[in-house]
Amino acid sequence: MGKKKGAVFLDRDGTIIEEVNYLRHPAEIRLLPGAARALRIMQERYPLVIVTNQAGVARGYFDEQRLEEIHRHLEGLLNMEEGRLAGIYYCPHHPEAVCTSYRQECQCRKPKPGMLQAAARDLAIDLSKSYTVGDKLSDIGAGKNAGTKTILVRTGYGKEHEKQIAGSPFCPDYIADNLLAAANWILQHG
Ligand SMILES: [Zn+2]
Repeated sequence: MGKKKGAVFLDRDGTIIEEVNYLRHPAEIRLLPGAARALRIMQERYPLVIVTNQAGVARGYFDEQRLEEIHRHLEGLLNMEEGRLAGIYYCPHHPEAVCTSYRQECQCRKPKPGMLQAAARDLAIDLSKSYTVGDKLSDIGAGKNAGTKTILVRTGYGKEHEKQIAGSPFCPDYIADNLLAAANWILQHG
């Protein structure tokens, strides 16, 4: 039991890459400054797993094949800077989806913990030794609901969501200026 290790769960948009409203093409991907370096320093100790809500699929803005292309391109960009991911999990659902096959109250859309729990099963991860990093309180909620420690980053929507912490049930364990600062905190506290 005690042999499982923790992971770091990372939000995608606004945390690793620049926030783009419904990013729908690989060419729109821009790594945030220091993001690849943050991955390099964390990956020695933790598997790194992206967990991302992608309601653009449910809304019919792009399909899952396009989303796979976007994720292959993102992995390529990270690999060029020697950043490695252990997995990418996405939620394509939305309760008001135009595509009926994606219209559901699923268990994977953050702040629900389904994606983190699926990754924990697939990769033999101990969630109690894990961290979740994101720019939205829904990321913090997913991390809390899965039993991980949580870090809000001030990139993307982070500064706006930081102001909403007081009225939210989801309080992060730490607030970092960016992913690199979050990585440094994780390595000091892990
Ligand atoms: Zn879902």
